[in-house]
Amino acid sequence: MSGVLPYGRQSINADDIAAVNDVLRGDWLTTGPAVTAFEERLRAFTGARSAVTVTSGTAALHVAYAAAGVGPGRDVVTSPLTFVATASSAALHGARVIFADVEEDTGNLDADAVGAVLTETTRVVAAVDYAGHPAEMDALHAVAQRVDALLLEDAAHSIGSTYHGRTVGTLADLTTFSFFPTKNLTTAEGGAVLSTDPNLGVRAARFHNIGLVRDRADLRYPDEGPWHQEVHEFGLNYRLPDVLCALGLSQLARMTAFKRRRAEIVARYDAGLADLPGVRIPARRPYVDPTWHLYPLRVLGGRRREVFHHMRAAGIGVQVNYLPVYWHPVFEDLGYRRGLCPNAERYYAEEISLPLFVDLADAEQDRVIDALRRVIGH
Ligand SMILES: *Cc1c(COP(=O)(O)O)cnc(C)c1O
Repeated sequence: MSGVLPYGRQSINADDIAAVNDVLRGDWLTTGPAVTAFEERLRAFTGARSAVTVTSGTAALHVAYAAAGVGPGRDVVTSPLTFVATASSAALHGARVIFADVEEDTGNLDADAVGAVLTETTRVVAAVDYAGHPAEMDALHAVAQRVDALLLEDAAHSIGSTYHGRTVGTLADLTTFSFFPTKNLTTAEGGAVLSTDPNLGVRAARFHNIGLVRDRADLRYPDEGPWHQEVHEFGLNYRLPDVLCALGLSQLARMTAFKRRRAEIVARYDAGLADLPGVRIPARRPYVDPTWHLYPLRVLGGRRREVFHHMRAAGIGVQVNYLPVYWHPVFEDLGYRRGLCPNAERYYAEEISLPLFVDLADAEQDRVIDALRRVIGH
């Protein structure tokens, strides 16, 4: 690839293209066999009990919170170091969002900080696997159980990651994926909601399909006629079409190779940057095996903006992930104030995401490392 290096991008091969082509020539453009097959493969891959595909990671969160019964008086506790959708999709259900600070090194939701803000009205604790590194799920689970809250894992970054040998998708009551092109697996736009509890799976499936109930045993008016379907709770149309599920199936077959290549790139960055003063390479717990989505380098000494400008000027598409969510004006206008979560704010102030994607060539990565060494001055 010449010109500007992006921080992330998809990897599409001939099999992916053929898979989409086949669907376009077939009978089903949406809600056909590719949807069923992709959901089945997601269950097999993760070990989750249920999987519902949806149109985006944001939709997945909206559906998961609906399944959990989040709403007015049923709050969500979450991390501020995430994409805004983790919080905004709960706010759209009318829930109050409570931010708890992150661990200083991993940037993941801190179980003790959650414990300090939990209340009897907390319905969901929503962790985020920042950069692909699973959050401290056992400790978070124990904390959530104190008030009978459900645990949700926003795994937009972490499909295929493991924690104490267990796969993401089995670590929380509800797990959400995003299949946006920069993520670890893509369907263009897309996402999924996984659950370890079949009842939550049924609720998720209903909400993503307008709330429609079709099983005769569940109908209030079963004798209305064979055409009959009815709505018991409001939902939306978040169905992911067959065309995109076919791409997802093909991509899922490549996940092992994707994970391995991402780990190689991360190891090369670590080796190339570990000795550089003025930066910190990403922390990693010994009992996790991440599918790395981001390489979040920390730039110390207040030099992040300068390094960002230098890298962009060198044609390297670095990014910053993330603005603390409650700094967004929509949350500021609700009364959230800066200073609330100091670890997340410091993480944001120092963070820069380096290019990380499967088809990044070694020579391109060396260009990134050289540019960094030049600006840092070593
Ligand atoms: C990308 C992302 C989302 C939203 O996914 P979309 O598919 O872009 O809607 C949610 N949470 C996190 C942490 C993300 O990175």
